[in-house]
Amino acid sequence: MSTIADKLARAELVDMVPYQSARRLYASGSDSSSATSNKIWLNANEASGPGIYTIESSCINRYPDFQPDNLINAYSEYAGLSPANILATRGADEGIELIIRTFCKAYQDSILICPPTYGMYAISAENHGADIMRVPLVDNQLDVESIRSQVGNVKVVFLCSPGNPTGNVLTTDSIRTVLDMFGDSAIVVVDEAYIEFSPETSTASWLKDYPQLVILRTLSKAFALAGLRCGFTLANADIITMLSKVIAPYPISAPVADIASKALAKLALEQVSIRVQETVILRRQLFDWLKDQDWCAKVFNSDANFILFRAVDTETKNFIFDCLRQQGILIRDQSAQQQLADCLRISIGSERELSLLKQTIINAVKET
Ligand SMILES: *Cc1c(COP(=O)(O)O)cnc(C)c1O
Repeated sequence: MSTIADKLARAELVDMVPYQSARRLYASGSDSSSATSNKIWLNANEASGPGIYTIESSCINRYPDFQPDNLINAYSEYAGLSPANILATRGADEGIELIIRTFCKAYQDSILICPPTYGMYAISAENHGADIMRVPLVDNQLDVESIRSQVGNVKVVFLCSPGNPTGNVLTTDSIRTVLDMFGDSAIVVVDEAYIEFSPETSTASWLKDYPQLVILRTLSKAFALAGLRCGFTLANADIITMLSKVIAPYPISAPVADIASKALAKLALEQVSIRVQETVILRRQLFDWLKDQDWCAKVFNSDANFILFRAVDTETKNFIFDCLRQQGILIRDQSAQQQLADCLRISIGSERELSLLKQTIINAVKET
């Protein structure tokens, strides 16, 4: 029986054998220091160490495992999925790129995005030579009937929930409807980069029902590890296997795997949950404050760790942005995006950072 990955992937990938790295052929296991000590490794042109730079268990004179067990097992536990459903990547961004490279034939196939949305879908598509169909959000939700008219025209659909830069979750009903309408004609990606801020809306438990579903996750947001470059693609095993043919041979460095596994341990997860709770409180306060400001025309509902708002006009938008920048406070101008004229996005920083932001704006407005 042919899988959805076989059916939809670039034909040349189906029988392709991925690069057989030394570490793919002979995995050293999760504890590389003990597993390597009873073997003589002369098959990968490595220095025989011990390396000077060691981060706890990882000897970085050795190539890391293709998908380090300790990391995959930790995320498997966290996400409630089998290790076979998980691919660790260099951030969720690499997941986006892999999905497009795996399922879109360059200069032939197309992706579908729902702007305003995360910019990397279009950038990765363009880099690869995939065409981009755009079905704009309506009231920050999917325009399900307009999406339906693209069934058969696209290979990959990118949905973002909670959405960036809009901030709100998509209704689970609309995501389900999109999955149903595409059936086995397209991969449907749900980008859950901010899911820790709205965990009850995750689609991770739907993987057993939808072979076309792919979910993107990251440690860059709620886990506070953007500098680490670690993300996860969640999907059925046949899709993970296909993506594994396209990904680099050693995508996750040993120190990254070490730190990321620690970040997924029980005690560290409690820290994440505390961080999320604090963020939600600060977000509420910023939301209420923005609503009260004369220069603010609209505040978008947020289920994530940022708030999008619209200034009353372009001049005001620039004024707010510039007065903050002059004080060294950088927020994101989203006004170039479709539907987001005069909109700015503020990340929920610390209480101190946000009160400085408010005070800076108050002072600047007072002076005019
Ligand atoms: C930040 C972000 C990503 C990328 O995350 P990395 O893991 O840092 O690459 C992906 N999707 C969305 C919606 C994001 O906001």
